[in-house]
Amino acid sequence: MSKTAIVTGSAGGLGKGIAERLANDGFNVVLQDINEELLLETEKEFKGKGFNAVAFRSDVSKKKEQEELVQFAVTEFGQLDVMVNNAGVDAVTSILEIGEDELKKLFSINVFGTLFGIQAAAKQFMKQNSKGKIINACSIAGHESYEVLGTYSATKHSVRSFTQTAAKELADKGITVNAYCPGIAKTKMWDRIDEEMVKLNDSLEIGDAFAEFSSAIKLGRYQEPTDVANLVSFLASKDSNYITGQSILTDGGLVYR
Ligand code: NAD
Repeated sequence: MSKTAIVTGSAGGLGKGIAERLANDGFNVVLQDINEELLLETEKEFKGKGFNAVAFRSDVSKKKEQEELVQFAVTEFGQLDVMVNNAGVDAVTSILEIGEDELKKLFSINVFGTLFGIQAAAKQFMKQNSKGKIINACSIAGHESYEVLGTYSATKHSVRSFTQTAAKELADKGITVNAYCPGIAKTKMWDRIDEEMVKLNDSLEIGDAFAEFSSAIKLGRYQEPTDVANLVSFLASKDSNYITGQSILTDGGLVYR
């Protein structure tokens, strides 16, 4: 029987790349996103490619909706094997200006969303008595905090923290919990970050912030969704069975840990 993976925030960006790779690896894939229009487009595209893919619109920041997402996967495909907590949002604000709304939004989606995803998936794996894999989206910003990305960096440090705690608590159930930490990928997220950084600095033009960050990458190019998907594919496979609690960098040589 084919294994089943959920990828949150997979209507576009890195999540879509990850979902496509897992589908090519032979997984049934549950696409999830809050953006219904894009989600349905992606579902159609995946079905057109012959993938076993179904879509579920929900909000990862809602505990109940994360439970419903896992239940949907089980109803559609019989069981759950891999949970990729990919959905995430950004904000660009100087430390003196960060306000309550930004903190609430980013922590709700990036941190609460990841934790609720871990909980819902782990409970399902225990119910099935199976060795599931949980894979969370961290970031280079989960290893090093960046200027004007204070809230975002704090949420990704939290993701790394929950990854470690969950790995320790769930190890005796045969559940592994790891995270992937991308560097600089040209998705809608970086388009937004670039635009916001330019607003904060008069000497920058659109594209300059992205170019400046990318120029520090030792392997000489920015990241593609397939670069991230390669690591997630490994973490979703049996080849990673002896790895847990790790937040692994995939950044072309940017942050060294
Ligand atoms: P993106 O903005 O291109 O895509 C994120 C997707 O998540 C979107 O489709 C969006 O609709 C969805 N989403 C947002 N809020 C949601 C919610 N509440 N519930 C469900 N879905 C929601 O971003 P991306 O660049 O593809 O990033 C994916 C993940 O990788 C994020 O967690 C991000 O923090 C992380 N990451 C990205 C980069 C990068 O360079 N792009 C670097 C490091 C880490």
